Amino acid sequence: MTLPYLRTIPDNAPPAFHLLAKPSGAICNLDCAYCFFLDKEIFYPGSKFRMNDEVLEQYIRQLIESHQTNLVTIAWQGGEPTLMGLDFYRRVMLLVKKYRRPGMTFEHTMQTNGTLLNDEWCVFYKEHNFLIGISIDGPSQLHDIYRVDKGGAPTLKNVMRGLRLLQKHGVEYNVLTTVNRVNADYPLEVYRFLRDEVGTTWMQFIPVVERINADGLTLFQEGSTVSDRSVLPKQFGRFLSVIFDEWVRNDVGRIYVQTFEAALRNWLGMDASGMCVFNKTCGQGLAVEHNGDLYSCDHFVEPNYFLGNIQEQHMIELVASSKQLKFGQDKLDTLPQYCLDCDVRFACHGECPKNRFIETPDGEPGLNYLCVGFKDFFHHVDFPMKLMAGLIRRERPATEVMAIMEQAFAGVGRNDPCPCKSGRKFKQCHGRPTPKFSSERLPNPQTRSELLAR
Ligand code: SF4
Ligand code: SF4
Repeated sequence: MTLPYLRTIPDNAPPAFHLLAKPSGAICNLDCAYCFFLDKEIFYPGSKFRMNDEVLEQYIRQLIESHQTNLVTIAWQGGEPTLMGLDFYRRVMLLVKKYRRPGMTFEHTMQTNGTLLNDEWCVFYKEHNFLIGISIDGPSQLHDIYRVDKGGAPTLKNVMRGLRLLQKHGVEYNVLTTVNRVNADYPLEVYRFLRDEVGTTWMQFIPVVERINADGLTLFQEGSTVSDRSVLPKQFGRFLSVIFDEWVRNDVGRIYVQTFEAALRNWLGMDASGMCVFNKTCGQGLAVEHNGDLYSCDHFVEPNYFLGNIQEQHMIELVASSKQLKFGQDKLDTLPQYCLDCDVRFACHGECPKNRFIETPDGEPGLNYLCVGFKDFFHHVDFPMKLMAGLIRRERPATEVMAIMEQAFAGVGRNDPCPCKSGRKFKQCHGRPTPKFSSERLPNPQTRSELLAR
């Protein structure tokens, strides 16, 4: 038996959990300006940043042993996980075969920038049913502002080459878009590019909120100053609302937007939204570094949130440790009164604790920086969400919402009260004119160099 061996599964251990593995640590072939992980290299001075075979075997064995469910997710992220080379992942498959229990199934996922993909990678992904997350921030005028290589050169062309290979081989993928202060002003351009040109049917929109520490770095979740790449709260709310309006009129049932799916689950009163940030508590989305160090969350890979090393203590004991359980419970227990009284708390739950660093209007600390945006967004979608939840409860397809909305809004004058009963005029609510889509609105190359020079 290889140490540390599993004694018993602690009573308070979750039956399943999500663990993001970082086999190459913070090392990446790109140099995206807003990446919160590149600085983390500093925590491992002198490291080669490669998960060795011993740690890899511990990791796979313990992950499987820790699960009381038959479904286990094995998730790879970075830095850039493809830097480990394909043979590393071939070894992963052999280890899964070695340790799996009868009846177990595995979900393999990888988040990549897509620039290093080739046919060989895609054949491997397809053979093992990988779900690939690929990062794209919009058309090149938006994507290439911050997502650049080590020489500062644009990357979208190369990402699209990788994406087309995934599509050619029929690999399942979704697109992750980070919403920053620049692309947040172009919601329709981003959404339509992803839907019509990239051709994806699954999108995630993740807000960039970079806290600047006292020393000017972004290593810790500390300080209340944000970088000027960070999305503004109102801007994020508007970004989501504009995309939602386009989606609810045309795309329900054929395009999946993670935030909208999570919101619908919360409107339905389901236990879990599918996104940790919109659940009551969290703590079941941990991160493991290349050397086996386990941390509370991918966003808290910093000494205060270090739980232990899986070469010294079994993973499930760390996952079920009082420190980690408290981390997850704190998401609920540290909500300020302002959130407890909020009419959209059931949907928001104060979002992610990493973003809770401003004061409420009455001076209580711990309010989410994005609060105003989330409030706007959740209020804006209340009417269609209620309609969709009602349809689903009556076992009717949620897609019917598109026709209902069209009917409800037909013939409403710009200055009439909005039929959603928000109390606002139609033109300021669901009748708000859709921003005109035009690639001419996108930043030009000159703006791009100004933004990069910041
Ligand atoms: S800290 Fe934020 S990202 Fe991490 S698990 Fe909790 S809600 Fe999710
Ligand atoms: S919208 Fe604001 S007040 Fe309401 S739960 Fe979210 S962060 Fe708290």
